[in-house]
Amino acid sequence: MLQHVVVGHKSLSDYTHIVGRQLVDEIRSLADGLEGQRVLHLSATAFGGGVAEILYALVPLMNDVGLHCEWHVMLGREEFFNVTKRLHNALQGDPDAPTSDEWDIYRRYNQLNADELAGDWDIVIVHDPQPAGVRNFVPDKARRWIWQCHIDLSEPNAAALAPLLPLVADYDAAVFHIDRYVPEELRSRPERPVYVSPPAIDPLSPKNMRLSPEDAAFVCEQFGIDVDRPLMCQVSRFDPWKDPIGVIDAYRQVRTEIPDVQLALVGSMATDDPEGWEFYNRTVAYAGDDPDIHILNNLNNVGAIEVNAFQSQADVLIQKSTREGFGLTVSEGLWKARPMVAGNVGGIPLQVIDGRTGFLVNSPEECAERCLRILRDPALGRRLGLAGKEHVRANFLMPRVLRDWLRIFKQA
Ligand code: UDP
Repeated sequence: MLQHVVVGHKSLSDYTHIVGRQLVDEIRSLADGLEGQRVLHLSATAFGGGVAEILYALVPLMNDVGLHCEWHVMLGREEFFNVTKRLHNALQGDPDAPTSDEWDIYRRYNQLNADELAGDWDIVIVHDPQPAGVRNFVPDKARRWIWQCHIDLSEPNAAALAPLLPLVADYDAAVFHIDRYVPEELRSRPERPVYVSPPAIDPLSPKNMRLSPEDAAFVCEQFGIDVDRPLMCQVSRFDPWKDPIGVIDAYRQVRTEIPDVQLALVGSMATDDPEGWEFYNRTVAYAGDDPDIHILNNLNNVGAIEVNAFQSQADVLIQKSTREGFGLTVSEGLWKARPMVAGNVGGIPLQVIDGRTGFLVNSPEECAERCLRILRDPALGRRLGLAGKEHVRANFLMPRVLRDWLRIFKQA
């Protein structure tokens, strides 16, 4: 059997004071008539990455409004995840696409999961490419199949997209984060609609709940941060597309003008990701022996509360990505009312409206210049941060995602 993820309980009413009664009422009226519908979320992993972040909040909320919702994680081994990692990268544009032998491995694991999948669902929502092939083996196990793609398909390696498309073409609907990510082949099929619904954060999770300034400072001090001096911070995996090297360059430029500034690069590491470690080591080497650059990862016990504390404490937050599907860290940072300087790519401009909820940048030089402006003008930082928080409240909190799904279910 597939792994059933136990998610605990959440109550939509707890969100009313944060998102407002109007949205909560809309959700309740959409849920009216959907009671007891059996909804399954199928994904590749229960840990790490945006999909897991979302499902830990969305699944209990779906249950709270009356659906019968479960989340199952597919079975897989290293040989399968090596293929799907290559597929994932190639779908985002990497030239190295899976070979036909690797697609055989992909199909073999998808068939295994299809056989093991419990039957009799009203709706199965399949997340991302890893389990996308399951449906074609067992279309009768659900009344309706929906594929949600969480990755950026705007400039794919065609050799990776071509074998994937027939696997997702027969789903009853597909959901993408941004309209630009929808492949042409899936558009304009009225009987198989495509919906756009960007992801969101859970304001009541330990990562996003309110921490007092004293508690945030206390946590940061444990990691050697001097909380009386200015702090720049990026929270991200150590990945070339997140550009931590560019962040260090920007910090060095800022330091020529503000000598007591500090930098924290907070990033989680997968123990089984050799590429990640190589890039982590390069970042550490690039930082050299500067005691004011703090490079921290989950092996230093940086968990959700610590991420929250760094985001809450920073005088300026950075997300200097050069490629980004959505960038949950951006909404997480804005939600703490901190000013954000971020790369003008992918889903970031949905969240950072240049000059209003932060600054968008295209180079380390621009990044340094905007950080300097904010550090020299705390009132500007405060204004940007507060506008950013309200922008997230209106658009990127989990109840809105719940509403989007209920609307989709209602259109069946
Ligand atoms: N994250 C974390 N610890 C870290 C680094 C990242 O918990 O040390 C979380 C981060 O808070 C966010 C998620 O991992 O919730 C990353 O999502 P995002 O969309 O920003 O980027 P991705 O890693 O999916 O490309």
